[in-house]
Amino acid sequence: MQEKPVFKIGDRVDQMCKTCNEERGHIVLSLSKIGRITRVGCPMCASRVMYRAGTTRRASSKVGAPYDRTRAYRKGQTLMHPTFGEGEVTAIIEPQKMDVLFADRIRRMMQAHS
Ligand SMILES: [Zn+2]
Repeated sequence: MQEKPVFKIGDRVDQMCKTCNEERGHIVLSLSKIGRITRVGCPMCASRVMYRAGTTRRASSKVGAPYDRTRAYRKGQTLMHPTFGEGEVTAIIEPQKMDVLFADRIRRMMQAHS
């Protein structure tokens, strides 16, 4: 299956974050005229870095478990929401609230008390 990746601003790509020292989904911040990603941002540490082709793959290659509000989530966990699609927990706000980064934006979601 040969799928040519087409990216747009706001898409997520996995890239190694030097600040976090962890590979995670970064948000595409800018594209070149021919549609190549030039800059990406880390949702955890907010660092903006050059996109390094070859070191990244589509974030959708790893699929999180279906979202379950009775579950307790940790920062960095991925989940699959029936409406919003794949998301990654970027912050635990309160014991029962968390911010989840979806393909388009961050949404505040319920979670179980952990
Ligand atoms: Zn980072």
